[in-house]
Amino acid sequence: MEPGDYLCGTPAWCAGCGNFSVRIALSQALAELNLQPKDVLLFADVGCGGNGNNWFKTYVFHSLHGRSLPPAIGAKIVNPELTVIAQAGDGGAYGEGLNHLAHACRINVPVVYLVHNNQIYSLTAGQASPATDVGSKTVSTPFGVSEFPVNPLALAISAGASFVARGFSGDIAHLKELIKSAILHKGFAFIDVLQPCVTLNKVNTFAWYKERVYKLDKPLDKVAAFERALEKERIPIGIFYEESRPVYYNKPLVSAPVDVSKFVEEFK
Ligand code: SF4
Repeated sequence: MEPGDYLCGTPAWCAGCGNFSVRIALSQALAELNLQPKDVLLFADVGCGGNGNNWFKTYVFHSLHGRSLPPAIGAKIVNPELTVIAQAGDGGAYGEGLNHLAHACRINVPVVYLVHNNQIYSLTAGQASPATDVGSKTVSTPFGVSEFPVNPLALAISAGASFVARGFSGDIAHLKELIKSAILHKGFAFIDVLQPCVTLNKVNTFAWYKERVYKLDKPLDKVAAFERALEKERIPIGIFYEESRPVYYNKPLVSAPVDVSKFVEEFK
């Protein structure tokens, strides 16, 4: 397979948007794992990143804001043969959908969760998100954000996630490897992707991240991973934590015989 086998059209994102890099890394990861587009199911919520699903040739599902995880988990339980990848922005994932992330970590259904984290609500024109740093001035916080931001990696580790990673859209090759590892992981795999919004976030730019980002050599034990997740001055990327533990299992509905005529009768 080639990356182009999963893509169609040109997304309507701003020139230089970090979403382009995530799209490239994801298509390269799928190609290198030789997955057939018919076996890949992408979920997205509302947001600039979520709109990217419109330009993928796999199966896709557009959910409500912050709600890409619940249908993704449901689909994976019904048909474990599918490669299921849910995407969301930092607003949806760490605001409206934060409870879904916590429970996905705990339940451990093998779904990949890619969060496009540009530290702002982009599609709605630049309001502060739960990932926006204290003091940041946005259209919704003209005097600066006063609330403490969510630390998604620390939260995922403490909620019991079996795979926790952070990528950077400025390093596509590294992000591609993270996505491949997440797809191959037997359990819920969470990747927070630092992804500048070149139009609305003039602070957390590519240059800002490049000065701070450094790579982890290998996954850490849980305590060390938590400590690294709390780092502020420098920003580690890579797999923070990975463990093998039982995944949620239910008898797949896709293989169960279904008598459709019975349901049709009920609706008559
Ligand atoms: Fe990308 Fe930001 Fe433009 Fe949305 S507003 S397409 S996140 S650069």
